[in-house]
Amino acid sequence: MLADPNALRLDHAMQLLQQSGHGELRGAPGSAVWLQGLIDALCDLSSRDALSGLPNRRAFESALLREIDRVARSGEPALLLILDIDHFKRVNDTHGHRVGDLVIKAVADTLQECVRPMDLPARIGGEEFAVILPNCAPAFAHTVAERLRTRIEGRSIDTGPDQRLGVTVSIGGAFAPQWVRSTASLWVERADLQLYRAKSEGRNRTCLEPTPVSTVSAEEKGLLFGGAVPEDDDA
Ligand code: GH3
Ligand code: MG
Ligand code: MG
Repeated sequence: MLADPNALRLDHAMQLLQQSGHGELRGAPGSAVWLQGLIDALCDLSSRDALSGLPNRRAFESALLREIDRVARSGEPALLLILDIDHFKRVNDTHGHRVGDLVIKAVADTLQECVRPMDLPARIGGEEFAVILPNCAPAFAHTVAERLRTRIEGRSIDTGPDQRLGVTVSIGGAFAPQWVRSTASLWVERADLQLYRAKSEGRNRTCLEPTPVSTVSAEEKGLLFGGAVPEDDDA
């Protein structure tokens, strides 16, 4: 007998949820409550990184856009940190990919443990993480970033029988320009620049943009003034 072309095909979705350890859906199968639960569970699944359980790059990018909107409306400072595990290739090369995965998971857990509920830690690449910290006063930024760095440095990661490893991270950070609707990629670029500086100055350190930018880039000015940038205005 041919399958009904109008029937919902949910086998694959159900299988993915089962594999990821999602609990039972509420309501009778096919009911609106059940379908809403299914959609919510799939949205959750598609915004999480499978290895670390942290929000993935997609979730990070949409959170970043929401934060840019919030900063532009409220003027509250928001800090973006980008963290990259130092010499991680060596971990894989020396101990294998399985141990590398355990290290990534441990770094993710440490991040999750030491941020405020309003902060958003995410895994944005292989051994690269980001944390969005809304309403973070510039005076505390270095302390906050250093707390993350030293917690990771101090963690002894259990990677097998009689084997414990330690890793360090380099951190770059930048504030969202207040009152200016910037773009997510410009913000990430500025934090990345600081990460690059932290790597080149020896790794296992935090580099932040010196002060929250009161000056804005030409591109940001374009966004602010719709392209009509006053020539002698460098604010
Ligand atoms: P640096 O201090 O400059 O950051 O050096 P690095 O060795 O950490 O950087 P590099 O970019 O050379 O190496 C990153 C490595 O991360 C290479 C890649 O194989 C590994 N990697 C990426 N994703 C994963 C993953 O999901 N699991 C494991 N085990 N390794 C991964
Ligand atoms: Mg990297
Ligand atoms: Mg690295």
